[in-house]
Amino acid sequence: MKFWLSATFCSVLAFASIWGVIGLKVDEAVERVVVRSAIAKAVDWSNYAIKRLPDLPELVETGIPNAEQQEVIRQLRELGDVFRFNLFDAQGRKSLTSDERNILEPEGLAAIADPEPKQVIATHEPIIGVYDGTNKPNRPDRYAEAYVPLLDPDGTVFGVVEVYVDQTATQEYFRDSFRSFALVLMAFTSLVFTVPGVAYCLQWFLTKKSEKNAEFLSRFDPLTGVLNRREFMRQATSLVNDGTRSVVCYLDLDRFKAINDTYGHAAGDAFLTHVSEVLRKNCCPDDLLARFGGDEFVIVFQNIGINLAIQRVRAILLECATEVDIQDTKLAGTISIGLAKRIEGESLDQALSNADAALYHVKAAGRNDFAVYGSEMGEELRRRNQLEARLREATKYSDFEVHYQPLVGGRDCNVVGHEALLRLNDEKGEAISPAVFIPLAEELGLIEAIGRWTIKTATRTMAALAPDKTLAINLSTVQFQSGDLVKFVKEALQESGFAPHHLELEITESLLLEDSPSVAMQIDTLKEMGVAIAMDDFGTGFSSLSYLWKYGFDRLKIDQSFVAALEHHPVRSREIIETIVLLGEKLGIKITAEGVETAEQAEMLSAMGCDVLQGYHFGRASRMELAPSTATDTATIAAKAG
Ligand code: C2E
Ligand code: CA
Ligand code: CA
Repeated sequence: MKFWLSATFCSVLAFASIWGVIGLKVDEAVERVVVRSAIAKAVDWSNYAIKRLPDLPELVETGIPNAEQQEVIRQLRELGDVFRFNLFDAQGRKSLTSDERNILEPEGLAAIADPEPKQVIATHEPIIGVYDGTNKPNRPDRYAEAYVPLLDPDGTVFGVVEVYVDQTATQEYFRDSFRSFALVLMAFTSLVFTVPGVAYCLQWFLTKKSEKNAEFLSRFDPLTGVLNRREFMRQATSLVNDGTRSVVCYLDLDRFKAINDTYGHAAGDAFLTHVSEVLRKNCCPDDLLARFGGDEFVIVFQNIGINLAIQRVRAILLECATEVDIQDTKLAGTISIGLAKRIEGESLDQALSNADAALYHVKAAGRNDFAVYGSEMGEELRRRNQLEARLREATKYSDFEVHYQPLVGGRDCNVVGHEALLRLNDEKGEAISPAVFIPLAEELGLIEAIGRWTIKTATRTMAALAPDKTLAINLSTVQFQSGDLVKFVKEALQESGFAPHHLELEITESLLLEDSPSVAMQIDTLKEMGVAIAMDDFGTGFSSLSYLWKYGFDRLKIDQSFVAALEHHPVRSREIIETIVLLGEKLGIKITAEGVETAEQAEMLSAMGCDVLQGYHFGRASRMELAPSTATDTATIAAKAG
């Protein structure tokens, strides 16, 4: 703004000066033209007069015109712009004056010579003066007095004529012409200077602006305006070197991907900006706040002890969990925070890595909380990083296995189907629990690729080895987010030839909590295809009746905790199981009981009316051998994990 003001001021000043100079030059030029034209007119007039006036040398000497001369003089006086003239003899003495009333009044020869005619006689050069006649009687506004020598044919001066020339019209004419010309010139110069001038200014302004932007981008995160990682590391390193007491916090939004996928990236960005504002509000001017990428932030609280840092972190947790209006949607997200007190002499990297370990501890313990780093957390993080590396490797090389746990009929205990359960071993060949690696795969965004591989592998195996039995496959919430689950299931069924009505997809209540229309649509389409939908782990969540009614589940899987409780709390758990079975009967939903480990449990559950039983009593999940190559599986999972 400041720049534009001064640029405009300078341009106006420059143009005003240019125009002022042009104005002066125009006046000078007009003056010169008026003088020159007056001389020309006076000389022309006198030449004409010499030709026309008979006996002019004599008239100059006597100053008394005869009748013929008087007539010519009258005509001459009305010729052109001449309105008066005087005649002088060869000595410069005035001999005749014409006046304005058109009457010639001979005055006789003057006694003394005038200086101007004397000079003209001496030099043979005319003398001219241009005068302002606005305040003089009987004079035009602008007139010239020209003394012109009268020469006889052999070049001798025989007198001088003083001619009064009215130059008012001439001056007006030239002034108008010159002004018009000057205006055109000025317009042209304005154009010539303005266009490149404006282009230059614009270029300068844009360069300055992009320099500023580049400077900003090199130091700050463009979305939230907080420091970027590089600038943070620069500033934080010098702080650490100063030896100031500080607490380092690593912050990570919980399930931010779900916000992005469900509400779109614009809403995700707006939410990140909101969170950065919350963080900024809880920082002091000396603190450092940075976005480390994605949904990760880092704060260094300066000159503060751990207790005060915890107070600030608590305020952040509370504010992030409070709903805000973002693009007409009420959004709230939880955040996990790891804190580490920086110990004297410790490097910045170490403090950051400790805070990261504390953050991982919070994530593993269920998120939406904070933790202060303790030495035991380092080991936890190391294990997690190891698991992450293994999971990425397994995803890339399809290094998983699907095991199949038998599902048996409640009455006859005949195998009616199998639940596909994913298996992953660590580097030493020891099994990693799906309860551990599935949530991590969700967090790392690998579950979609893994889930597809599972569906493809399980349908093909079952189509080959048990085509008339049910196949139950667990789905993760994340698999509904991309929106192409239905298409993929359809493809897998077509490719394998496995019957859709033998496939059962198991989902948990957490999927339905957001009440997303897209999820409802996908469930509907799957059901239309003949695929059954089961609610897994029923009884552990909200167990909402409205979900059962709304989504039309085909099966409820009673969580194994109720079956296990039959031993220690037989009455209570029996009541719960019977109620669920009754509910199923009323709503036309089939019931599976999970975690059946003993013959007694099996008997009781069968008596209570459960359709299907599942548990170690009937068999653990195990391999189903399929001879053909799995080369295409490898290709698929690796491509998806990209
Ligand atoms: P889930 O869907 O509830 O699967 C049943 C779990 O109970 C399996 O554990 C199974 O081995 C275990 N189980 C079966 N019978 C008994 C029993 O009699 N006693 C006891 N104590 N446990 C029994 P697993 O295989 O460790 O899987 C754990 C969870 O991991 C599964 O729980 C499921 O939520 C998830 N999971 C497994 N495979 C997949 C998969 O392919 N995709 C997804 N999204 N999740 C999977
Ligand atoms: Ca299951
Ligand atoms: Ca279950």
